[in-house]
Amino acid sequence: AQRRHASKHRFFAVELSQALFDFVIQLLPTQEEMAVKEDVRKLLERLIRTIEPDSRLLSFGSTANGFSLRNSDMDLCCLIDSDERLSASDMVTMLGDLLERETKFNVKPLPHARIPIVKLSLDPSPGLPLGIACDIGFENRLALENTRLLMCYAMIDPTRVRTLVLFLKVWSKRSRSINSPYQGTLSSYGYVLLVIYFLIHVKNPPVLPNLQQMPPLRPISQEDTHIGGHNTWFFDDIELLRQRWQSSNTDSVADLLIDFFRYYSRDFTYNTGVASIRGGLLKKESKGWQNELSGSRYNDSRERNRFCIEDPFEIDFNVARCVTKEGLYQIRGEFMRASRILAMRPRAVAALAQLCEE
Ligand code: ATP
Ligand code: MG
Repeated sequence: AQRRHASKHRFFAVELSQALFDFVIQLLPTQEEMAVKEDVRKLLERLIRTIEPDSRLLSFGSTANGFSLRNSDMDLCCLIDSDERLSASDMVTMLGDLLERETKFNVKPLPHARIPIVKLSLDPSPGLPLGIACDIGFENRLALENTRLLMCYAMIDPTRVRTLVLFLKVWSKRSRSINSPYQGTLSSYGYVLLVIYFLIHVKNPPVLPNLQQMPPLRPISQEDTHIGGHNTWFFDDIELLRQRWQSSNTDSVADLLIDFFRYYSRDFTYNTGVASIRGGLLKKESKGWQNELSGSRYNDSRERNRFCIEDPFEIDFNVARCVTKEGLYQIRGEFMRASRILAMRPRAVAALAQLCEE
């Protein structure tokens, strides 16, 4: 009976893995969409250079890290290579005015946000049936680096890592509405960190190495590894890494997805634990992120640390700080629901449809 059980599981895993690949492939952005986005980036860069000639406009987030879905937003970051530059909020105001005058974008400057940005969008048109949405920020070098870190992880094992991440993004976003930090749930960035944490620190043998803990090939100076006091070093020679390191974990994508849902619905210690891709499972206590007792005057900090995911470089920053009590309840509920559906081993295509139904 046990053998029959194992072979049934294997059949389900093979079928589900194939269904996951097929599902994800049709959600990737087209060549055309990527070309349009690159054109938009170039156009915006040209315009910004009329204000700041020494500036570059770089893309980060999903458009740059290999985890982009069809019609995802564009995250852009402007770097200015000169010593006398305007403040980010002045740049936002000026750029907002300029884009309003010179382009057809809907423009919304947010100069006083925690991170000042200009929000842009284009309404759908025949050439661009889904429109385009884009945020431009300034000097956000840590975001460029964490984008590069995620991209490196994606490159180490493109098939398994990208399929898992892309599936979870669609699942959390379009279908289950647990991907909105403004409404108390988690950002895509947060979900990607959960996946990478799981693949480095939970799976045994690990699917991914810990790039931030690998020894550098040659000594490097403090200046070269730190941005604004944060250590941003990681092993980024992925070609070399692929020659020297190979995971001995042979789980299929489906196996990993099933385990991912099980781990986050049953095993992760939400009350005391912090998921850190750099350091493994940490304690809230050791980071000063513990839940305060209700009724205390630290009500605010309590709400911030329901769910704790350490940023890979800004280690005093909880990426999941927006997640509220209700939001976490909802997220865990969805992890459990997914786990339950997959445990029944329905036909794979039906399982994915059911997982992602609205
Ligand atoms: P999507 O396709 O849903 O836009 P994405 O991969 O672009 O997904 P976002 O959540 O939009 O992910 O994040 C884009 C970038 O913004 C991340 O790579 C990260 O640099 C930064 N970022 C987003 N959310 C946070 C956060 N809570 N804390 C720190 N940085 C964040
Ligand atoms: Mg984005």
